[in-house]
Amino acid sequence: MDDRTLMETAVQAREYSYSPYSNFRVGAALLCADGSVYTGCNMENAAFTPGICAERTAIYKAVSEGKRNFLAIAIAGGPAAAGPGELSLTAPCGVCRQVMREFCDPEAFRIILGTGGEDLQSWLLKDLLPLSFGPENLASGREPGEKKEKEVPGA
Ligand SMILES: [Zn+2]
Repeated sequence: MDDRTLMETAVQAREYSYSPYSNFRVGAALLCADGSVYTGCNMENAAFTPGICAERTAIYKAVSEGKRNFLAIAIAGGPAAAGPGELSLTAPCGVCRQVMREFCDPEAFRIILGTGGEDLQSWLLKDLLPLSFGPENLASGREPGEKKEKEVPGA
């Protein structure tokens, strides 16, 4: 799937955003190495802290179905009234960057940003989360950047 199609999928996922407090709607589309795509939207809560971002929703959906090998994520965000092409350039928050770091290769995983129109930006995770702390910092015998385990078979 190309970047533009992945962004269009994120724009569609944004339609499901539950964001009555911020009125800032975000959608995300996560591309797995096997070609499958998982979507997510932001979900707010009256108690505030239980809310979750679109990016983590997509990642957690994928991981919960056995996927752990990801290539890219497209993020589409903006005020509720903004339509495709009018969105804000919405970069992932720090928490989502850290969750990406858990499952994604910082040297290869791409974060695709755009306004839902023609313009697209592609960033590497290592550039949005430099000098990061990840699983290899805790796992004994595994060096930074070393490949993680393969995707769960049959998932
Ligand atoms: Zn976030």
